[in-house]
Amino acid sequence: MENKVVKFGGSSLADAEQFRKVADIVKSDSRRKFVVPSAPGKRFSDDIKVTDMLYKCCELAGSGIDFTDDFQIIKDRYNGIISDLGVDISLDKEFDEIIAELKSRPAKDYAASRGEFLNGKVLAAYLGYNFVDAADVIVFDTKGRLLLDETIKAVRAGLRGLNNAVIPGFYGRTTEGIIRTFSRGGSDVTGSIIANAVNADIYENWTDVSGFLVADPRIVENPEAIETITYRELRELAYMGASVLHEDAIFPVRSAGIPINIRNTNRPEDKGTMIVSDDYDFSRESLGHTITGIAGKKGFSTINIEKAMMNNEIGFGMKVLNVLYSNGVSFEHMPSGIDTMSITVDSSKLEPVREKVLAEIRREVNPDHIEIEDGIAILAVVGRRMKNTRGTVARVFASMAHARINVKLIDQGSSELNVIIGVSENDLSEAIRRIYDMFINSEKV
Ligand code: ASP
Repeated sequence: MENKVVKFGGSSLADAEQFRKVADIVKSDSRRKFVVPSAPGKRFSDDIKVTDMLYKCCELAGSGIDFTDDFQIIKDRYNGIISDLGVDISLDKEFDEIIAELKSRPAKDYAASRGEFLNGKVLAAYLGYNFVDAADVIVFDTKGRLLLDETIKAVRAGLRGLNNAVIPGFYGRTTEGIIRTFSRGGSDVTGSIIANAVNADIYENWTDVSGFLVADPRIVENPEAIETITYRELRELAYMGASVLHEDAIFPVRSAGIPINIRNTNRPEDKGTMIVSDDYDFSRESLGHTITGIAGKKGFSTINIEKAMMNNEIGFGMKVLNVLYSNGVSFEHMPSGIDTMSITVDSSKLEPVREKVLAEIRREVNPDHIEIEDGIAILAVVGRRMKNTRGTVARVFASMAHARINVKLIDQGSSELNVIIGVSENDLSEAIRRIYDMFINSEKV
């Protein structure tokens, strides 16, 4: 029988009302057998996540300061949910154990992990599902790196014979028995691992947005949601800062060919975004837009170098890049001309070594002219269909020309999955709106 792994983020489990929505979602589809919860997140914008409160308690405990009052807020949060839902469960024993552990051994990862642990207990009781402690099935090495093969085996053993289970997200245990967590937002990773281990048909990741949007809603009013995106396209957009999912959540499902469906707990009727493998057969789908998404990022600088006959000088580029390398600055893009070379770097990485880099490049290659231009934004237009559609690049530039936006840099990766352009930071929002108009609004049927 088909099965789904469903992960619910912190905002989906922030209070009793959200728990009810989650239970409705789980119960409305009998394939939703394995549930991975986060810790209670924010109920309103300046609320504090339980995970952050636990970090604070641990810090206080580590400095020998009494954390009773802070821990009481955490207790109240869970007890409030329990009594509101009317579930027959008490966490008093668990609270006492956590307090005792923090007093004797205040370890950060252990403290943070308790948010998911306790929430998992409550959710399992409310759903009437089995509780499987992530500490028994997610295995890290002594340095806190995930041991995927061991984990898959342990998950299979831990879930054997169970028809359903709640497995808390975010943490596991090292081979030496120490509790460790993934980085922040890591419940996404747990869900992905469980999906791989149980060979799920789909990994549903429930959050508070209806999937990925074609463009940032702070820039484009009411942008369309992306219905389907490939893992590769997602990687391009995520790199530019479009984040809904933890980066490490991709690999376990991608390698097993399991699609991820990003869904909205507050709007379960929305289809959300489906993330599918790169070789997914799109032929049955309606054609859709030429592009999948647009993302932009500020904070770049370009180092522009000019030297007559540069193209004849063997090793010129290598010497310049070596200077960046030895100063610990990585480069993002490097469009060049016959006698010019321009290298785009992250301004914050360049700043501390700016003068040194300039001096060393001068010394190494003796350019006719060198300058640094700050305030550059990079914009990526991403889409798997661009490869087979003529005129995409022309349309990108036509929209920039109509808006009188000066394009400072152009780059198209060999995969033809994206077109990268550099514009002044002040032009970024308008550039994104124009491209949205050109490809989304004007392609609407
Ligand atoms: N609760 C953890 C965090 O706040 C992990 C998660 O929510 O995925 O980062």
